[in-house]
Amino acid sequence: MIRKKRMGKGIAKILSGLLVFGMVAGLVPAVPGGTVHAKAAEPHTSHCVCGKGEHTNNGHDYKEETWTGINNLSEINSQGSGNYYLTQDVKLEEVWSCRNDVKLCLNGHKITREIKSDGRFPYENAVICIYGTFTLTDCKENGIIKHEGENTGAGVYNIGNFFMYNGMISNNNCGVKNAGDFNMYGGTISGNINEKTSDYGGGVYVDAQHTFNMYGGTISGNTAGYGGGVNNKGTFNMYDGSTWSYVKI
Ligand SMILES: [Zn+2]
Ligand SMILES: [Zn+2]
Repeated sequence: MIRKKRMGKGIAKILSGLLVFGMVAGLVPAVPGGTVHAKAAEPHTSHCVCGKGEHTNNGHDYKEETWTGINNLSEINSQGSGNYYLTQDVKLEEVWSCRNDVKLCLNGHKITREIKSDGRFPYENAVICIYGTFTLTDCKENGIIKHEGENTGAGVYNIGNFFMYNGMISNNNCGVKNAGDFNMYGGTISGNINEKTSDYGGGVYVDAQHTFNMYGGTISGNTAGYGGGVNNKGTFNMYDGSTWSYVKI
C-alpha cells in the first residue's frame, strides 16, 4: 500500500510538471500575438512651426520642418537642441528644465505635472522651466501643458526665451510666469487660477524688466487677485490676439 501511494505521488508530480510546461509554452506565442494588435503610432508629418499652417499674425516665414518623435521629455536632455514631437502623453513628477534650443510639437498630447512635493523655489513647481530657448506648438487638437490636482505652480516658468505658436497651457496657478522674453503668436492660455500670491497673473505674469509681446492667440478665463489675464510689472506689448479674465471679487 505504501509503495502504491509513493508511485501515485510521483505520477502527480510529473503531471503537474507537464501542466506547468504546457502553460509556459502556451504563453510564449501569446506575447508576440499581443503586439500584433497594439495600436499603431499615429503618423506625424513635417510641418511649419505654427503647427496648423495658419501662418497668420505670427511673424515667421512658412517653412516645412522635420520633427523627431520622443516618448518622454528626458530624451531631449540627451539629444540636445532640435525639433521634437510627443508620441504619447507625458507625466512629470518634477519640473522639466529646457537648457537648449528646443522646438516641441505636442502632437495633441498632454504634459501633466503631478504634484509630489512643494519646491522651495517657484520654478521648481512649474511644469516646464526655460533657461534656453523653447518653442511650443501643436499640429493637432487638445495638446496641453497642465498640473494635475492642485495647481501649485506655473505651467511655463520662463527665464530664457519662450515662443508660443500653438497648444494650450491650462490648470496651473499661472499659465506663463515670464522672467525672460515671451513672444506669443498663437495658442491658448486658459483656466489658470492663482489665489495665493500677488506676483502671479492667472494667465501671464510679466516680471520687472522683462517683456511679453503678444502677436496672436488667446488668453482667456484665467483667475487671479491681480491681473487675471496679464499681470504686467515689466513690458507688455499687445499687437493682436485677445485676453479676457474672471475678476476676483
Ligand atoms: Zn507657419
Ligand atoms: Zn506636429
